[in-house]
Amino acid sequence: MEIVITKSWRKSISMRFDAEGNLQVKAPKLSSQWTIDSFIAKNQAWIDKHAARIQKQRQDKKWYLFGEEIYPSNSPFSWGEWSLISPDKERIERGFKSQAKQYIPDRCQELADLHWFTYNTLRITSAMTRWGSCSSKKNINFSYRLIMSPKEAIDYVIIHELCHLRQMNHGPKFWKEVADIMPDYKVQEKHLKNEGWRYKV
Ligand SMILES: [Zn+2]
Repeated sequence: MEIVITKSWRKSISMRFDAEGNLQVKAPKLSSQWTIDSFIAKNQAWIDKHAARIQKQRQDKKWYLFGEEIYPSNSPFSWGEWSLISPDKERIERGFKSQAKQYIPDRCQELADLHWFTYNTLRITSAMTRWGSCSSKKNINFSYRLIMSPKEAIDYVIIHELCHLRQMNHGPKFWKEVADIMPDYKVQEKHLKNEGWRYKV
């Protein structure tokens, strides 16, 4: 935890924890270091309580790649150039995104070739609520978050979007296309529905 002190034209001292878990202290421009220090000291119990809570949330957070847990609590873990020890949302997101870009386009092309689909472009997005989408212009998007789910679930989402190239709806013909390629697609659909909340940064 870092304590960041910012002085500005304000009347009183206030503090809060930011998204990175650092303590942001805002103080009046003319306040002395002694005033700020004693404010922090006076609120030490509150700071400790919140710092402990943030620490616990971080330890409980689990990270997945292809459905496998990759961050055992407290153990040092480095992945390429970035480390998961001090979770920094943006860096971690970038890490997962680059993994997604390495895997999903190739796998999509492979499945498309195998089942005679053609599409225009494929993009890896930061979509939070949708795993994938397909436009009438035959452009396909996948959320980078998909890389955290098991490979079978990734295949299901890819097949789902590929089938939209032929059926732009969720009618019986669409589901028959999906089932012809992946007979157990419902298992994957259910997995994403029940476990999908785990797969986010
Ligand atoms: Zn769909």
